Amino acid sequence: MSANETLTPHYVTNPTFDFSVDGILSMLRNQGMRITKSRRGIMLALFKATRPLSLVEIQQEALAEGGVLPDYATVFRMMILLEGLNIVHKVNLKRSCSYYELTNPGEHYDHLVCTQCGKVVVLKSACPVEEAERRIEKEYGFTNLHHSLEFFGCCPECTAAKNATVEMPLPPSDPEVTGRAAA
Ligand SMILES: [Zn+2]
Ligand SMILES: [Zn+2]
Repeated sequence: MSANETLTPHYVTNPTFDFSVDGILSMLRNQGMRITKSRRGIMLALFKATRPLSLVEIQQEALAEGGVLPDYATVFRMMILLEGLNIVHKVNLKRSCSYYELTNPGEHYDHLVCTQCGKVVVLKSACPVEEAERRIEKEYGFTNLHHSLEFFGCCPECTAAKNATVEMPLPPSDPEVTGRAAA
């Protein structure tokens, strides 16, 4: 843990904001949005997610959580809106579609991404670039700096599977050469 007491949750614009399903929904209601069952389902899905979700995945999870399947356009428009409000952010998974995740104050969102199976793991250990972020803030005079950091590689399961299938290469099968070498 950092001993620096001056650290503030840098991506929170309003510290009294209640970052919860109901807190966000009531904020959206105050902005004139009608809170339907499917929109509530979308928020529940985002809060339950343990990794970034694609729009289709949000749709499916919203159905599971809220009992109503939101249409794709509803999910899309809601993500655009929430992104503008800094409630969600897009995560770069090097895939063709976008993945979204809550910008949860106090929680971090650096990721490990397996390029073989697509598994995404949220890095629980201390952020490797937090100090650099503070330094950059000072140096460039930016405030509220935040980031999304993705490490790409091969997960333990895929690495094990790869090692299991790769056999030791056999020496060139020339019996004469081998015979002579052995003699
Ligand atoms: Zn993998
Ligand atoms: Zn980080």
